Amino acid sequence: MAKSFDVVIIGGGPAGYVAAIRAAQLGLKTACVDKWINKQGKPALGGTCLNVGCIPSKALLDSSEHYHRLIHDLPTHGITAKDAGIDIKAMIKRKDDVVQKLTGGVEMLFKVNKIDWFKGHGRLLANKQVEVSPVDGKGKPEVIQASNVILASGSAPIEIDAAPQDGNRIVDSTGALEFTEVPKRLGIIGGGVIGLELGSVWRRLGANVTILEAQDSFLAHTDQQIAREALKQFTKQGMEIKLGARVVATKVNPKSVTVEYKDGAGDHKFQVDKLIVAVGRRPYTDNLIAPEAGVLLDEAGFVHVDKEWRANQPGVYAIGDVIGGPMLAHKGSEEGVAVAEIIAGGHGHVNYNAIPLVIYTAPEIAWVGRTEEQLKTAGIAYKTGAFPFAANGRALAMNQGIGLVKILADAETDRILGVHMIGHMVSELLQEAVVAIEFQASAEDLARTIHSHPSLAEAIHEAALAVDKRALHKSN
Ligand code: FAD
Ligand code: AMP
Repeated sequence: MAKSFDVVIIGGGPAGYVAAIRAAQLGLKTACVDKWINKQGKPALGGTCLNVGCIPSKALLDSSEHYHRLIHDLPTHGITAKDAGIDIKAMIKRKDDVVQKLTGGVEMLFKVNKIDWFKGHGRLLANKQVEVSPVDGKGKPEVIQASNVILASGSAPIEIDAAPQDGNRIVDSTGALEFTEVPKRLGIIGGGVIGLELGSVWRRLGANVTILEAQDSFLAHTDQQIAREALKQFTKQGMEIKLGARVVATKVNPKSVTVEYKDGAGDHKFQVDKLIVAVGRRPYTDNLIAPEAGVLLDEAGFVHVDKEWRANQPGVYAIGDVIGGPMLAHKGSEEGVAVAEIIAGGHGHVNYNAIPLVIYTAPEIAWVGRTEEQLKTAGIAYKTGAFPFAANGRALAMNQGIGLVKILADAETDRILGVHMIGHMVSELLQEAVVAIEFQASAEDLARTIHSHPSLAEAIHEAALAVDKRALHKSN
């Protein structure tokens, strides 16, 4: 007889593994099917995020930032080091160690919570049966029975015909985490979050980076005041960012790649040593759903779900990147918790207005809520308060007086509608703004909250005061 479970989750990324843990905590008999094989050739949990996404990219961003600061920033502090160098092999190994520690941690959490991990490819059949096939194609598939199925199969990098990957000179984000040396000339197609983060890693280590972005505006979904500041800073750092530049063809040569692109001025051609394709991600549903399961995808290929993450078949849910929305680990995890709670008979909720978004460049970019452009389009009257880190004591003490905090509040009610930041470590500062939005705080609530001195967070306090034109450390 088939093994049976209250919940079977297909996909062990941050959406799926968190759903599994929450379901198990709630007393549901839970299984998770995942097919990831890591760099060491072993099955691993954690999905894109832990294996080739959030975590390894942040590990390399951290290493490269240390190197960059050693050369370019620490001398300002009076600190110099002779013979500073970078050992790329050691840097990549440290990244791999962090990844293994974390994916191993998820495996341990599965054991502690008594979650069955089926290592293989999962395919949803009719009547909530899931077929698990060995990844190597050897051995027989096993069919397990679920009362509820959660599809959490994530996403995969989009490939474009203009730049087919050869795994050496033309790579996707995963390949860009594995360079064995610093490319002298690095091209990146796509000026989104992933392109900017990976471009930053290799630029800091000495690569000449050119980013080609098809859109005319930089970071089109980011508040444009912040995006303008970001473009200024990245350009100043030496990153060449070409907007309105659409890559139309590439050619792999023995020692380089020729990149052809079109922009308003015509056709152009240049050579790079490596080219990263970072043009976005697509829902990953390859061989996920048998036709007889009858689960619908939308026109963009995402699993179609309602407001409670239910697919069109009873007892089938979907979460994470495979349903679209912001493709972020924490968004998927929250959906995972919510669905587990719904299945257990509770009420799941995700506040999509309070999802933090971060770009881990230096300076970092972080925001929550709506941008000024979105408020204008929606016809909502708002007030603005901004404060620069150049006037923040802690930032100056750290030699980090770049960027600003900007708060957008409802003109009538003073309720905070959006908080946008660019600056040192704003990824960590943002959380105060997320809590404020979650608690429906007003700008005055933040203005009346005592912030420790000196702290980067004082910039948030001052921006909140500035909404009421009473910032203390700048003219209003
Ligand atoms: P995934 O993490 O993609 O996991 C899906 C899992 O399902 C995988 O293990 C896959 O092997 C498995 N799977 C798929 N189909 C099947 C099947 N049929 N059978 C069995 N298993 C299957 N997000 C952030 O929030 N912060 C960041 O800093 C960040 N940085 C990123 C950097 C990079 C370079 C990349 C590529 C992504 C980054 N992301 C970041 C995005 C983040 O990784 C994703 O949003 C997140 O991983 C989505 O989680 P998920 O669980 O939906 O899917
Ligand atoms: P994101 O979805 O945030 O990862 O960003 C991917 C970016 O790649 C988007 O801003 C797209 O406009 C950009 N893009 C997609 N195709 C091309 C192309 N052929 N040439 C240049 N940029 C592209």
